[in-house]
Amino acid sequence: MRTMGLAGLDELVEALGRAGYEVFGPRVRDGAMVLAPISGVADLPRGVGDTQDAAHYRLRDRGDERLFGYATAVQGLKQVLFPSHELLWRARKTPIGFDVEEADATPPKPRAFLGARDCDLRALAVHDTVLASREYADKPYQQRRDGVFVVAVTCADPGGTCFCVSQGGSPKPQAGFDLSLTELLDDDGHRFLVEVGSERGAQILAEVSTAEAVAADTDAADALVATATASMGRTLDTEGLHDVMFASADSPHWDTVASRCLACTNCTLVCPTCFCTSVEDTTDLAMTTTERHRVWDSCFGARFSYIHGGVVRESGSSRYRQWITHKLAGYQDQFGLSGCVGCGRCITWCPAAIDITAEAAALRASLPATEEDLQTVGETR
Ligand code: SF4
Ligand code: SF4
Repeated sequence: MRTMGLAGLDELVEALGRAGYEVFGPRVRDGAMVLAPISGVADLPRGVGDTQDAAHYRLRDRGDERLFGYATAVQGLKQVLFPSHELLWRARKTPIGFDVEEADATPPKPRAFLGARDCDLRALAVHDTVLASREYADKPYQQRRDGVFVVAVTCADPGGTCFCVSQGGSPKPQAGFDLSLTELLDDDGHRFLVEVGSERGAQILAEVSTAEAVAADTDAADALVATATASMGRTLDTEGLHDVMFASADSPHWDTVASRCLACTNCTLVCPTCFCTSVEDTTDLAMTTTERHRVWDSCFGARFSYIHGGVVRESGSSRYRQWITHKLAGYQDQFGLSGCVGCGRCITWCPAAIDITAEAAALRASLPATEEDLQTVGETR
């Protein structure tokens, strides 16, 4: 373990730039915390926290100097590694037909992410499984993902909608980082405890001014993690949740949720694990060039389930059921992991204050009490 001060953090960003990375970090934009290119510590949000609850998000002045004192940025790494719009191919009219050009296959400049949370890294692992580890890898995702450098940061102040601990996560990044920082701000000064997670991380850190960590630093970091772990805004009872979800297929609760759901798709847009896409074709006014773009899609959209002549999920209740059942149960059968990392974004950004933890609890409460009864209901349905 090493420690570094604010000057060391600046040196780290500079070292990443010298190594060829485009560095993304948290920045305040339009009253929200977003992930955007940074060039140094001066770009980071000093003393800015956030208040999050169902359908509620506000930045606040923390009254201190923390640089990573917010819970989660509005979006995770998905917005960069799996963007909402991307060109697949372009066709140009010629005198005898048309030529088709594939989208630029040049690998993009490698990205470094400063400030990634444990939930961001676990969401990245979900996308790696879904998009890059199956028979047909998603080439554009794989190209952006290859070479990504992650500087994770311990979450010191979880949000009111966070429940990562229920989903097997932690305020302290567990895996998937090159370097992991814990920001310490106490009588001993403003500094970062640094943990190395990869050979590349060690190489970059060698270019930064650091010092050997002392027991007071590691003790302070442990205390911070313990406090954050106990400060989750929400919890999700995951005991038997897979069976609860499938046994709830015919629950009347779906209509209750649907009566509130606006089908706005916000939940799927902010969710760092959602990965559904569609394609859009556009033609210029001169009718000489056509482009096909891949765009994010949402299972809340009216035409998402359109299959040769009809929509499979017409009602709002069936769409919400699809979304939450896939997240909390179907993913396990398909990919061997949960589709939810407990980041709480879908709760914060749902304008109807629909809360995945509350809906799962309501479904559980409406089912028979014993596990035997539950399995019987699940098998019957
Ligand atoms: S379902 Fe909600 S809480 Fe879970 S990962 Fe997606 S946005 Fe986060
Ligand atoms: S659950 Fe909320 S965020 Fe999702 S589509 Fe319905 S209203 Fe929009």
